Parts: sequence; structure tokens; C-alpha cells
Amino acid sequence: MSEERRLIMLPGPTNVPDRVMRAMLKPIINHHGPDFELLHESITHNLKYVFQTQQNAYVLTSSSTGAIECAVGNIVNPGDKVIIPVLGVFSERLKDKIVRHQGKPVEIPVKWGEAPTAEQIERAIKKEKNVKAVAVVYNETSTGVTVRDLPEIGKITKENDVLLLVDAVSIIGGDYLSVDDWNVDLCAIGSQKCLACPPGLAAISVSQEAWETIKNVAGRPYYFDLISIRDYAAKNDTPFTPALPLFYALDEALKMIREEGLEARFKRHETCAKAFYVAFEALGLKPYPSEKVRSNTVVAINAPSGVDGAKVRKLMKEHYKVEIAGGAGKIKQLIFRIGCMGTVSEAETMATVSAFENALKDLNYPVEIGAGVEAAHKVFR
Ligand code: PLP
Repeated sequence: MSEERRLIMLPGPTNVPDRVMRAMLKPIINHHGPDFELLHESITHNLKYVFQTQQNAYVLTSSSTGAIECAVGNIVNPGDKVIIPVLGVFSERLKDKIVRHQGKPVEIPVKWGEAPTAEQIERAIKKEKNVKAVAVVYNETSTGVTVRDLPEIGKITKENDVLLLVDAVSIIGGDYLSVDDWNVDLCAIGSQKCLACPPGLAAISVSQEAWETIKNVAGRPYYFDLISIRDYAAKNDTPFTPALPLFYALDEALKMIREEGLEARFKRHETCAKAFYVAFEALGLKPYPSEKVRSNTVVAINAPSGVDGAKVRKLMKEHYKVEIAGGAGKIKQLIFRIGCMGTVSEAETMATVSAFENALKDLNYPVEIGAGVEAAHKVFR
């Protein structure tokens, strides 16, 4: 296996600053003791800032899927109706989790590349009686779509006494999300995307309204029982052994976010995303999602016809040392996806655009070399 460094422009995991990697070298400590209490307190404090919440937030030793499963498993009783817009691979998976926990998903099918609207959600709540929750993937990583109506959806769920569960895995720390202002009851996230932390940790925020439901769910998972997690967290402890090196890394990554400030961080992501979109358009390629719902953290672009996408990616990775992703699910072969996440800046953006157009040229695609770079460059000036 090569230890050669490449630019990781995947929609997760993403590049991790050396400062965060080095933090993992700290000594192992007793996780039931004063040193861990301080670490836990520091992480929780900064995590609440990232979630923009005054309510509870917990770190989980698992990948992001654990936090989503935790959210579903703690609020769904058998037969409970959960409205779920399905707009790609990750919202389909969220629906599967509702089924696995014996809930009754009420699916709102959404054309891939589009996002559900607040009106659709409102109509579904009114039509179905006794809806327990609405579950939304805020940033659908498989299509590069952000559900821009999320704040409106939160108003509607609040008015109707319905819980709002959000998968913000591929967007938290990279674009606006205010758990408290947007009335998000359970928000599930992961460490390895816009937080610029290694993979392996997840986190969840829980609202007061959610606790009222959680205490009445008898079939709560054992490992992800939020009541037990809450009781341990009150003592800055965890019910099970935490992945200590990753906790150190998350602590450092969250400190870096604090230092930069969320507003500046969102702006940086937005500017880089804009540069990507204009660069690809200059190369004659269209974004996969419709314009209004394009993500600032996952840039999805229709692959040019007549070029083997896998070859483009291989060349970019092996020759230009930049790794991007192909599609997922039914559009696997049809698009490229670029993670515009975490540490992304002008340098990474320009290197990626340059590698992309060079690879196309190498594969004899009729591209005007430099067109993408020039368009992207203007966005940064
Ligand atoms: N949800 C979304 C929107 C994602 O993008 C991903 C991973 O890419 C997941 C859930 C699953 O995350 P993990 O693989 O960390 O469990």
C-alpha cells in the first residue's frame, strides 16, 4: 500500500489537517476519569456551537450511520408513521432504517437532482393522520442536492407537533444549519466530512420535545440508548469505551472550526463550490442537480458523453494525485462527485479543476485546456 499523499476531494472522507492528525498521538487515558471529563466537556461545548444549539449533543463511537440509526431507534415505536422524502441513496437508506425499526415510512418520492419542498411535507402531514416524525436528508450526497426548504419544513413540523429528524452528515460545518432556530429535534452527523476530522465518530443533537418521545419508546437500542448516553454525558462520561484517539482529533477539529468561525467557513465552502460550478460549465459540463438546490459541499457534475468516467478518475488519482468520486446508486456511471468540504480552499479547488481538465485532454476529450481554471480563478478574485 502506498503512503503517498493525494488530495482527497471525495464527498467524504476528506483531507484532515496535520494538527488534527497529530492530536491523535496523545496518550491513552482512563475514560472514566478527570482527564476524559475535560476532553468530553470541551468537545460538547464546541459541538453545540457547530450544531447551533443550546440543547443536548452527544458524540458516538460509530460512523455516521450509527447516529442516524440512534435517532430512528429512539423515537420510532412499531407502526409509527414517519414521512420521508426519498431523493437519492442516503434518503433511501434512511427509509430502510425506519422499516427496520418497524416504523411505517410514508414516502414522498422526489426526482433525483431535485429537493422536496415545504409544501409537499405539509400536504403529507395533513393527509396522513398521527405522523410521528418527518425525516430529511438535508444534503443528499448521492445527487449533490441540498434541501433548501429545511428551515420552512422545521416551522411546519413544529406547528403540527411532529418531530423533525435530520441527516446532516455531509453538510454540517460546511453550510448553514441551526438546530435550534430551525426546530430540528434530532440531528445526526459524522466526523469525516465538513468537520475535517478522520472517519469513525458520529454525533447527535436531541431537543426537549424529542426527549418526551424517547422516554416512551420501549424498544430503544442497547448501544445507542439515548437515555443512557444522556445520563453518562451529564457526568462527562460515555456508557461504553469511546474511541479515544478520535475524540482527541474531534476536539482539535472543532477548535479549528471555532477559530475560523462558522460564518467564514460557510462562505469559504460557498466560494469554492461556485468556482467548481463555473469551471465545469466553462468546460461544457452541466451540474446534475437543478440550480436552486445545488449543494455547496458536494459538487455533482454530469459526466461528458464518450468518456469513460472510471478512466478519468483513475488518471486524476494516479497521475495528478487528486481523488474524486463517481456516482452512486442508479446514476453511478453518469456523474462525478467532488467533496467541497472541510479544508477546501482556492488551492484545492484550482488543483482539482486543473487535474480534471488535464485528464479529459489526456483521454482525447475535446476540451479547451485552461478554460475551467480561468473561470474558477475569476471567482477567487
Ligand atoms: N448520510 C449521508 C448523507 C452520507 O453522505 C453518508 C456517507 O457518505 C452517510 C449517511 C453514511 O455515513 P457513514 O458511512 O459515515 O456511516
